Amino acid sequence: MLNNRLALAGPDGGEVPLPLTLLLLRRGSGEPFYYGVTLMPSASNNPSPDSSVYVFTASFLSEEKKVANAAHELYGHAYFYELKKQGLNVNPNHTRAIIGYGTEKDSLLGELQYPIYGNTNQLLEETIEKMVKESLENYFDRINE
Ligand SMILES: [Zn+2]
Repeated sequence: MLNNRLALAGPDGGEVPLPLTLLLLRRGSGEPFYYGVTLMPSASNNPSPDSSVYVFTASFLSEEKKVANAAHELYGHAYFYELKKQGLNVNPNHTRAIIGYGTEKDSLLGELQYPIYGNTNQLLEETIEKMVKESLENYFDRINE
């Protein structure tokens, strides 16, 4: 943190502001999903302040959670960002949409349908799941040596 602002030192000596999602966490209102974040140039959410990609993971997490977060951000979002930059047709962001409908019974209205939302960027989700698993296996192998 430089001065009184929530910022980190960037690679060129400049400041990189902490993303809003991590600021929310500091007030205790965040969810586990936001314990890590990747800032990518031109992103609509938490854009990078320059042309670099930045990965953050919350420092108060256990080593295991940090490993999982780093794998999620680096080998998911940052990796897909680089692949896209090199011309591959991949999306480095999570996408959500209606993936189905559920029903429930209401005593007055009868049977009601409600939408079920889920992650729809299948390739990213599968890659993240695989890389988090592999990183945790490597981590546990190393601490059990
Ligand atoms: Zn993510």
